[in-house]
Amino acid sequence: MAAIYMDANATTPVLPEVVEAMRPYWAESFGNASSVHQRGQQARAAVDHAREAIAALLNCRPAEVVFTSGGTESDNLALFGLLSPGDHLITAAIEHHAVLHAAEALAQRGVDVTFLKPTPAGVIDPEAVRASLRPNTKLVSVMLANNETGVIQPVRQIGEIAHAVGALVHTDAVQAGGKLPIDVAALGCDLLSLSGHKMHAPQGVGVLYVSRKIKLNPLFFGGLHERGRRPGTENVAGIVGLGCAAQLAGSFLHATASPSASPNTPPENPTALAALRDRLEQGILTRVPDAGINGAGAPRVANTANLYFDGVDAEALIIALDLQGLAISAGSACQSGATEPSHVLVAMGLPEERARGSVRLSLSRMNSQSEVDIAIERVAAAVSRLRAISGAAAAR
Ligand code: PLP
Repeated sequence: MAAIYMDANATTPVLPEVVEAMRPYWAESFGNASSVHQRGQQARAAVDHAREAIAALLNCRPAEVVFTSGGTESDNLALFGLLSPGDHLITAAIEHHAVLHAAEALAQRGVDVTFLKPTPAGVIDPEAVRASLRPNTKLVSVMLANNETGVIQPVRQIGEIAHAVGALVHTDAVQAGGKLPIDVAALGCDLLSLSGHKMHAPQGVGVLYVSRKIKLNPLFFGGLHERGRRPGTENVAGIVGLGCAAQLAGSFLHATASPSASPNTPPENPTALAALRDRLEQGILTRVPDAGINGAGAPRVANTANLYFDGVDAEALIIALDLQGLAISAGSACQSGATEPSHVLVAMGLPEERARGSVRLSLSRMNSQSEVDIAIERVAAAVSRLRAISGAAAAR
């Protein structure tokens, strides 16, 4: 039975080109990027090269790129690096826990925090941001793409509203990296988080873009790495992998599809990836009654499908599909195994039962149309089996 992976929002497979780019930095070029000798210089050059690749992806200056250990650290550095007791933070109830829990910890330390609710489609309304502004609003942090629904947030409009009163703007773009073109100048954000493992680089490396106009307090204390913003010996191989993945993401985002593409050709650009995701959703919805798409009414990134199946328990469906060789998830990976329904779907106003019957299928450019067609059959069969079992149990 073919094993199919459709959980790219949890983590993506590292692309072969990325593995090859990283390999020398674990072997012959193993130097510390702060060392003066040649091995150190090689490592430094590789980190600088990766920094330029990230800057090109985000349309910023290389000096504005801070390498971190991942999306969680980037989000924490943005929030804790800027906010002090007495400041006001506006964020959203649909943020990833890396922002939500950081905001809750800041609230315990005397920062005023407003958590905005989304519309039923999962969008944060810029007017809700405007209505929440206070004289002490220091930062607005709203994600660019939601990890569970894929819904794209109006960060540019939110930024204009925040900047008009002198507040700064952070966006968690972890789920947008490699899926949407990101231009920090056009987006008008002051800080932006990315994570390597959501864009075909390895786990444990990320980026915080910090506008040169901003003075950020570090979270850690040590050497003067990353211009004093993030001390600690650089993860050279990881950073090289992220730089390579950023270059490949840039090519993917701007590629034109070749006319010879076959059903087994992986999607060559976001339009082809969205077509694959739409085929998956429509295929499932035509076969499965009492099901629907969460976030359907909003713009979404190309790869994410969040579907509800009434009368089905999401955890049971995930396990049934895993046994059939299809890897999917419910909500964010760190929540899987927990019995709580997704905080994102609940904030969107889904009834708890429906939130508990929702799963996420997230594709990457390594999935093919044939895999999508197999996944449709597996999901339809598993849902109907689970409904038959729970119907039989209810009749007993
Ligand atoms: N932000 C979002 C939107 C995410 O989806 C994730 C991971 O799922 C993170 C932050 C955390 O990133 P990392 O796993 O690199 O710490």
